Amino acid sequence: MLTARTKTGKIICLGYDYKKETLLYFRSKEEFICPICGESVLLKLGDQRIFHFAHKQGSTCRDFYESESVYHMEGKRQLYQWLIRQKVPSVLEYYDREIQQRPDIMFKYNGKKYALEYQCSTLPEKVFIKRTQTYLENDYIPLWILSSTHIHQKRKDIVSLSNFHYLFLRTTTTGKFYIPAYCPDQHLFHLVESITSYSIKNAFIQHSLYPLEKTKLDGLLEPKMGNHLNLSSWNREIEKFNLNWTLHPGKGQKTFLYEIYNKNMNLFLLPPEIGLPVPHSILIQTSPVIWQTYLFLDVLANKNLDDLITLQEINMHFKKRISRKEIVLRKLPQLEGLNPLRAEMEYLMQLVQLGILTRKGETIFQMRRKIIIPKSNREREEAKLLFYKKNSHILFKS
Ligand SMILES: [Zn+2]
Repeated sequence: MLTARTKTGKIICLGYDYKKETLLYFRSKEEFICPICGESVLLKLGDQRIFHFAHKQGSTCRDFYESESVYHMEGKRQLYQWLIRQKVPSVLEYYDREIQQRPDIMFKYNGKKYALEYQCSTLPEKVFIKRTQTYLENDYIPLWILSSTHIHQKRKDIVSLSNFHYLFLRTTTTGKFYIPAYCPDQHLFHLVESITSYSIKNAFIQHSLYPLEKTKLDGLLEPKMGNHLNLSSWNREIEKFNLNWTLHPGKGQKTFLYEIYNKNMNLFLLPPEIGLPVPHSILIQTSPVIWQTYLFLDVLANKNLDDLITLQEINMHFKKRISRKEIVLRKLPQLEGLNPLRAEMEYLMQLVQLGILTRKGETIFQMRRKIIIPKSNREREEAKLLFYKKNSHILFKS
């Protein structure tokens, strides 16, 4: 840890750049105490490691706070210095006794209180969610920043994101999603933006790298981002993904395959209107191909021309699929309150733009054209080519 107090109550914060001689002098004069448990701690001034305080052997407090690596300490120190350089009121290793939580940095910005957690080790999902909820209930805005070492790029625009990564997902005030990461070795923010997931693990993304020195706090909290999803790459990956999981389907996927087989459908003969990317699809772990097929089977396929479709009807089927675990929602503790039904709504709006539905009211749609299921590969290919040629200007707009 980087903060301790002296017997007289003075706080020593190693977030500042002290010279080693100064600290050696302090150490010869003072005794240091852990501000949380009150036990005495040692000031470590080795040449290899970052200067820090450490509990003595056998302390019960140490397990909580000292499994932190040099990388972690260095990261939070840099982030702290970055904040105070911008004159943002910040406290390193702030201990909130009331909630018994200790964010790496607490800072105040635009009248709001933030709890910054720089996370280098993986944390059990339950602990992450509990901590985040406690922050939210106590008027903190949680700001979880992942260590960049956790981001594994598959290709330039595709990255593997686990459930753990998604815990870090936050949103700007304009409703764009991103995952913030930081690398203390390179002094670099690494933002994973424009996340459009097409399977549980894989997503199209955009990487943005911002040097710490040139970035303001606003650039981290409200990054400017566009949407760069490429139409043909999306289509190619979706097809590759479909092929992959039909070869090795999981339990939930078997249920899906069985159901569409019973309805005389085939995963490789899906119409191009099914499996489209929509922004809030990120709230749903199940692939867009699957949840949009369910929406088709549950509602759209049973409608004739001019029939009405209500959002309530769609919502009811959606909830039923969720309760049967045929559609799985993502755990996104920092985005509680966002309704996954928004993804369904965005999809309906796309169908409106594609001329399949018309909107009759806030939550009412009317069937204008049926979605045609291709009967052969050739039909499917033809339909796809025509579809993308005609509609690329309306799809993928953010
Ligand atoms: Zn302690």
